[in-house]
Amino acid sequence: MTVYDSNNIFAKILRGEFPCYKVYEDGHVLAFLDIMPRSPGHTLVIPKAPARNILDVNLDDYLHVARATHRIAAAAKKAFDADGITVQQFNEAAGGQVVFHLHVHVMPRKDGIALLPPASRKEDAKVLEDNTAKLIAALKGT
Ligand code: AMP
Repeated sequence: MTVYDSNNIFAKILRGEFPCYKVYEDGHVLAFLDIMPRSPGHTLVIPKAPARNILDVNLDDYLHVARATHRIAAAAKKAFDADGITVQQFNEAAGGQVVFHLHVHVMPRKDGIALLPPASRKEDAKVLEDNTAKLIAALKGT
C-alpha cells in the first residue's frame, strides 16, 4: 500500500499553508471550491484526517465526508439552481486520482451542459469568491 504523503496540496490547505475558497468546515471535514472547476460551484470535500483515498481511509472519517457531501450537494443544487449534481471520487493514479488526499467532487449540473475536462482552466478569483458566498448562504438554510 502506498503511504500518505503530507506534502500534498490539500494537506497544505488543511495546515493553513495554502489558501482555499472555504465553503464548510467542522471538526472532521473541510469543503472548498475547486480552483479549476468542471462546472460552476464545483466543490471538494475532504477529511481532516490524513488518508490517500477510499482504500486507506478510516471508515468513520469516510462517513464524515459522506455526511458533508450529502449536505453540500443539497446546498449546491439550491445555490446554483442546478438540475442535477455529479459526485465523483477517484482512487490512485489508475483510478484517475491526481491529488493524494481523499476528496469527493461535488459538481452542480445544468441540463444539456457537459462538464469541462479536468483542470481545463483556473477560474477567476472574483467568480470563485462569488460562488463561495452563494454556497455558504445556501448551507445556512440546511
Ligand atoms: P483528482 O485527484 O483527479 O480528483 O483531482 C484533483 C482536483 O483538485 C482537480 O479537480 C483540481 O482542479 C483540484 N485542485 C488542485 N489544486 C487545487 C487547489 N489548490 N485548490 C482547489 N482545488 C485544487
